[in-house]
Amino acid sequence: MNIHEYQAKAVLRTYGVAVPEGAVAFDPEEAVRVAERFGGKAVVKAQIHAGGRGKAGGVKLAKSLDEVREYARELIGKTLITHQTGPEGKVVKRLLIETLSDIQKEYYLGVVVDRQTGSVVIMASEEGGMEIEEVAAHSPEKIFREVVDPAVGLRPFQARRLAYAIRIPAALINKAAGFMMALYKAFVDMDCSIAEINPLVVTNDGQVMALDAKLNFDSNALYRHKDIVELRDIDEEEPIEIEASKFDLTYIKLNGNIGCMVNGAGLAMATMDTIKHFGGEPANFLDVGGGATEEKVTAAFKIILSDPAVKGILVNIFGGIMKCDVIANGVVAAARQVGLDRPLVVRLEGTNVDLGKQILGQSGLAIVAADSLAQAAQKMVELVK
Ligand code: GDP
Ligand code: MN
Repeated sequence: MNIHEYQAKAVLRTYGVAVPEGAVAFDPEEAVRVAERFGGKAVVKAQIHAGGRGKAGGVKLAKSLDEVREYARELIGKTLITHQTGPEGKVVKRLLIETLSDIQKEYYLGVVVDRQTGSVVIMASEEGGMEIEEVAAHSPEKIFREVVDPAVGLRPFQARRLAYAIRIPAALINKAAGFMMALYKAFVDMDCSIAEINPLVVTNDGQVMALDAKLNFDSNALYRHKDIVELRDIDEEEPIEIEASKFDLTYIKLNGNIGCMVNGAGLAMATMDTIKHFGGEPANFLDVGGGATEEKVTAAFKIILSDPAVKGILVNIFGGIMKCDVIANGVVAAARQVGLDRPLVVRLEGTNVDLGKQILGQSGLAIVAADSLAQAAQKMVELVK
C-alpha cells in the first residue's frame, strides 16, 4: 500500500526523521493559510501517488503568499503527467505546502527489502534527485549499500560508513547517520516494503532533511497498522483492483490479452509463465484463493471481462479444498450470468475432476476443456491470435 508524501512525512516525523515544516491543503486559501505560518515563502507540491512531479511541473517554489495562491490554483484539479503516472496522468486533489529549504546538495537514500540477501538493505548515493534506476544504469559505482542483520538492526557504524561513502560534509556525518537510524526504525516498525528519500538534502544552515519521502507498506502486515490503512486514498488506486479487494481476490492488471483465473499465487505464476512460454501475454494476475466459491468465481469473471484488452479467459483451478464439480458449477453459473462473449478455456485438476468436466461439457456453453496446463495455454494462445 502506498500513501502520499505529506502522510509519509508525518509518519517519519514521529520517528524523529527530520522533515521540513508543512501541512496538506485541499484548496488555494488553505494553502495560503499554511504558508502564512512560515512567512509566505513556500514550496507548493502536488500530492499524487507517483514520482517525477518536479520535472512535470508539480513542484513550485513560491516567494510570496500571492505566488502560493497562484500556484495552488494552477495545480489543484490539474492532470499531472509524469513518467510514473502513465499517459493518462493523475488529477491533483491535494497539495503539500512546506517551508522553502536552502539546499546545499541533494542525495539519495533508500531502504528496501532485498530478495538476494534476504535482508533489509540501505542504499545511498550522492546522485540525489535523480531516479535510482538511472544512477544504477549510468554510474553504479556511486550507489553504496549496507546489508542489515535483522537480529541486531542497523548499526551506527554502518550508517556512518554510508554517510562517508556518499560524501556528506564531515560536520554533518553524525546527523546523517542519526537520520538513517531513525528511518530504519520507522521502516521496520511500520512494516514498510520501501522507504525512499529522494532527495535527502543537506541545507546551507547545516540541516540533514528528507525533502521528499515515499513509503510503501507490506499489505500482509496492514492488519497491525490500522492508522496506516486509514491513510488509503482510493482516488489513487485502480478501480478494478479496489473491486477485487472487496471479494478478497488478488488482482493485478498486466499488459497482455489473456485473462487468467487461477487459485493460489504459485499456480497463478506458473500459469502466466506457461502462457508466455507458448507465445501469449497474460492480461492479469488473479488469485481467487484456496476456497474459490461460486460468488468469488463470478466476481472474478466480471472483473476480468471488464477489461476490454481481454480477448480470452483461461481458467486453471486445482480442486483441493474445493472439489472440481463445485468449481465447474461456479464457472458455468458465472459464465451464464455475465454473458460470456469471449473464448473460455478451462483446465481443472483434482478431486472429482471427471464430474467437473462432465458439468462443463453438458453446460451448452462454448467452453474449451483442457487436460493439462500446457494444453490449456496452447489452446488459449491459438484462440486469441
Ligand atoms: P518528485 O519530482 O516527484 O520526486 O518530487 P520531489 O519532492 O523530489 O521534488 C523535486 C525537486 O524539487 C527536488 O529534487 C528539489 O530539487 C526541488 N525542491 C523540492 N523542495 C524544495 C525546496 O524546499 N527548496 C528548493 N530549492 N528546491 C526544492
Ligand atoms: Mn523525489
